[in-house]
Amino acid sequence: MKITGIETFLMAAGPPQGSGGKTEGGSGTMATATGLPFGTTRHWLFIEIHTDAGIAGVGEGSGWPLVVEAAVRDLTPNLIGEDPTHIERLWLKLRGAMGNHGMTGTVGGGALSAIEMALWDIKGKVLGVPVWNLLGGKVRDRIRVYAHASTPEHARDCVALGYRALKTGGVARPLEKVAQLREAVGPDIDLCVDLHGPPDLTVKDAMVLGRELEKYRLLFWEEPVSCENWEGLARLRDAVAIPLATGERLATVWEFQRLLAQGCADIVQPDTGRCGGILQMRKVAALAEAVFATMAPHSGSLGPIGEYAALHVMASIPNALILERFSHDWPMRELVATPPVQVVDGHIVVPDRPGLGVELVKPEAARYPSGHNAGLRPDAGSGTYEAGTFTEGVQVQTRWRRARYFGL
Ligand SMILES: [Mg+2]
Repeated sequence: MKITGIETFLMAAGPPQGSGGKTEGGSGTMATATGLPFGTTRHWLFIEIHTDAGIAGVGEGSGWPLVVEAAVRDLTPNLIGEDPTHIERLWLKLRGAMGNHGMTGTVGGGALSAIEMALWDIKGKVLGVPVWNLLGGKVRDRIRVYAHASTPEHARDCVALGYRALKTGGVARPLEKVAQLREAVGPDIDLCVDLHGPPDLTVKDAMVLGRELEKYRLLFWEEPVSCENWEGLARLRDAVAIPLATGERLATVWEFQRLLAQGCADIVQPDTGRCGGILQMRKVAALAEAVFATMAPHSGSLGPIGEYAALHVMASIPNALILERFSHDWPMRELVATPPVQVVDGHIVVPDRPGLGVELVKPEAARYPSGHNAGLRPDAGSGTYEAGTFTEGVQVQTRWRRARYFGL
């Protein structure tokens, strides 16, 4: 069997800007005040690898999808004519092909992840077994998931749907927000807080915040200071009695090894679409296992194909803690891949179908074409900047930021 080609499917992953949140009938390419044709800046990138045996495999890459798509296309000649079942060898070939462009990073990791994921899908289909069966078999039959909730009402909705763990993100008044959520859902629901690695929160301010959060018995506290500040994360991990989670922006075992060796994480959060692939993720789980850390994969950037891949890894590793799930982001999550994932009692049943067990619905992927994929800077009136400081970086706005964190 030989690889004959790769198709890519890049789509806007949200309703078009100015559509009022509607997902029907939008082009996804409406003009903006800046003149840029874009809908949402969030994108999903799916790929399909074709073979001369008529078997195709699907994959998904994150890590700046618009750029990752170019990387996948640029890498494709290295795969044409290759046997898709020799996954590690092909991964090494692709990484070697990118070597002169610098460290792998999340863009390279995204391309490797999308391609490698699709190779596993092909291999599983060829052998007639689910991918988890090629990773050592199942440790568990269902995967625990958490939903996102930012208001007490939304938190109660998620609990009514069966979720038993919730995460809230953002930086505005986290203490107040967590207190409201705990009050709304009671003591039996796990809560997590994600500060998204704020570059302006000092380690000492984060310690004060963390000690205040201890009483809520969080399942984990995610990226309380800048994700580049590994020394600060290690100090916080020692100073605050809440399990610390990070890693969504990293790729390859080498980056995760350093993160764990420096004592930065109780929970590693590789993103299934950009950490380097299913086998890299399995190896990261082993690195974490060796230091008694657990894994809670990041899915915030991913669509349904990456979500399926995470289920197979989580099924096969001993230290799977919980999987992130966007339960209400937009209806395309349920339409662009089949069958859609079902959450029952806060868990997803591990699929038993050959390969990843999911197929891309191509006409749906074509409905919301890609627009502008880089994040757009909030404007001066967004509340993100202290008055008169719009031209400055957020790092110097400590007074404003402390007020947002602490409600001063
Ligand atoms: Mg995060």
